[in-house]
Amino acid sequence: LQSTLDTALASPGKSQDGTRIQIHLNAGLSADSSIAINQGVDGVGLFRTEVPFLMQRRFPSEDEQVKQYRAILASYPDKPVVMRTLDIGGDKPLPYLSVDEDNPFLGWRGIRFTLDHPDIFLIQVRAMLRASLGLDNLKLLLPMISGVNELLEAKTLIARAFEEVRQEAQLAGEVLAKPLLGIMVEVPSVLYQLDGIAQEVDFLSVGTNDLTQYLLAVDRNNARVANIFDALHPSVLHALSLIATTSDRHQLPVSVCGELAGDPVGAALLVGLGYRQLSMNTRNVAKIKYLLSRLSLPRLQKQTEQMLSLSEPGQVRTQMEGFLAEQG
Ligand code: PEP
Ligand code: MG
Repeated sequence: LQSTLDTALASPGKSQDGTRIQIHLNAGLSADSSIAINQGVDGVGLFRTEVPFLMQRRFPSEDEQVKQYRAILASYPDKPVVMRTLDIGGDKPLPYLSVDEDNPFLGWRGIRFTLDHPDIFLIQVRAMLRASLGLDNLKLLLPMISGVNELLEAKTLIARAFEEVRQEAQLAGEVLAKPLLGIMVEVPSVLYQLDGIAQEVDFLSVGTNDLTQYLLAVDRNNARVANIFDALHPSVLHALSLIATTSDRHQLPVSVCGELAGDPVGAALLVGLGYRQLSMNTRNVAKIKYLLSRLSLPRLQKQTEQMLSLSEPGQVRTQMEGFLAEQG
């Protein structure tokens, strides 16, 4: 089994009939930069920058951040690295910033917090841009966007940071490349504004953890309701289908970086729905690549179509598991 997985890890992600599926890594504290995993993935699909912020007793300085981001970008010099701006709040409060809220998941988190603190946002974006100098593999990702206005506000700040760093770099004889910009699709209101958002971004990344939480109104960390937190819920699957078809219509690259992408049933469904980029934790990479290499796309698409008409998440899982077992 280990050698089968090693072989899967070493080859590019593909379905049985040869359709390329890009496989990216989710990373936090640091990206796994071992040679095997580095060569086995197409890049970093989600670097969660709140992790380094949580490790400190105060906000890290711009220079400290440059060092941390540079280390990640340099581990993947010839591959894209998607860095998400700070997504604290919700289940990730900062120990050195006390915020008292009744509903933190519906409160001051992600882009809401950073737009209210442009100083923190600008320092972080400047640090990311400085870290990318000469590597040019940075992609910027904004968390918790709920509408076009927030996106435009963030873009104004990013443009300012870009201009500052570009000029500083120019004085040093360096050229700053413009990073591609994307948003997390994880707040359900975005589902109905995808056409407008598509005009303003270079890519989308679907966060199935929060999308499930907000679509089903179920706390992703509450054990009492864990049985109804299910990304295979038909409403989530329909939302995922809508995002895939809308992105396709706009020829906008879209990836999935929620936990669903690293789950065999989830990954198969996502590919069946049309996704061609999945981002997951290191430990799932070999398994998912192996699974995809056994799947025929036309058959998978037919199966996925049928799953969209079921009404129970449990049925989706059972029937998908049956289908996957049949495909070997
Ligand atoms: C998500 O919400 O699916 C996601 C990938 O982001 P996080 O888990 O960090 O909220
Ligand atoms: Mg999220």
